[in-house]
Amino acid sequence: MNKVAFFDCKPYDREWFNKINEKYGFDIVYFENKLNESTALMAKDFEAAVAFVNDQINQSTINTLYSGGTRLLAMRCTGYSNVDLKAAKDKISVVRVPDYSPYSVAEYAIALLLCINRKIHKAYNRTRDMNFSIDGLMGFDLYGKTLGVIGTGKIGKVFINICKGFGLNVIAYDPYPSDKGNISYVSKEEVFSRSDIISLHCPLTHDNHYIINKESIEMMKKGVYIINTSRGGLINSEDLLEYLLNGKIGGAALDVYEEESEIFFEDFSDSIMKDNVLTHLLSLPNVLITSHQAFFTSEAMFDIVSVTLNNIYEYFNNKRIVNEIRYK
Ligand code: NAD
Repeated sequence: MNKVAFFDCKPYDREWFNKINEKYGFDIVYFENKLNESTALMAKDFEAAVAFVNDQINQSTINTLYSGGTRLLAMRCTGYSNVDLKAAKDKISVVRVPDYSPYSVAEYAIALLLCINRKIHKAYNRTRDMNFSIDGLMGFDLYGKTLGVIGTGKIGKVFINICKGFGLNVIAYDPYPSDKGNISYVSKEEVFSRSDIISLHCPLTHDNHYIINKESIEMMKKGVYIINTSRGGLINSEDLLEYLLNGKIGGAALDVYEEESEIFFEDFSDSIMKDNVLTHLLSLPNVLITSHQAFFTSEAMFDIVSVTLNNIYEYFNNKRIVNEIRYK
């Protein structure tokens, strides 16, 4: 039977993969450990391994997987900035889920914006404590404000359509603009200087690491809101914190964080959090941080699991591997 080592497994992964695997019958062994250079040994004699967004798949991880006989790495996600594709070249085929319900992430981004602007996270806690005061909970109308979207792919486009329904004036930056008729493209600098709200919907690449940093924040309007559902490395968190503290940034809602890999998806409620920047960000009333859950709808999960298992099926059955990603 075709053996699959499944890393970074959570109960919901096991439930969904087991259900849809009934159709394929792969021998899946689930590991709670993240895949990294130390745990890659666990995949010895497994021809396929499944990994996720915060696994550290560097050259050493790849070499250990390869020595142990792994020939397919199936990422159960869209982004692959955590995979050293150069190291994998000619050794291990890397596949991913190129798209799944873009509504999951786009709808979550608007939920974050509405929550942080209207302070619903604070109101929820207040009323549960029988505190019915609305003092300090004032937000602003989205109608008529300028929204800058960075990245107008599948998720960015859905997000723009939703935002147009609120009467937001949308401007966007994308190095590969599309659908020019419906989207008002401007330069990156114009997005920074004109927007009341900026939402990130691009992948993390070498070019755009820390696209939100001191220099770009300096160009922004006072009171700008920043929403990030893409990748943590797009924002320099220390710069974000500095400009939240001095009041230049009005609020931030983040579903991703640059140092999330050892933190997100885990429960640290009984421990002392050692990440000072994260702790400081979480202490601010105008910051909302969630744990990379924008994708987490039943529709998206169905797509992710079905496509991942089909990618593995194509590999084991010598079919053309449609969703392979190659080092360029
Ligand atoms: P996509 O490939 O359809 O679109 C990405 C767009 O970004 C493309 O139009 C591309 O041209 C553009 N782009 C590339 N480099 C850019 C740059 N430097 N500046 C501005 N735009 C740039 O991807 P998608 O499906 O829309 O997903 C977008 C991102 O959302 C993913 O890369 C991933 O990081 C993130 N994501 C997050 C979650 C979550 O749960 N939080 C889930 C899925 C995806």
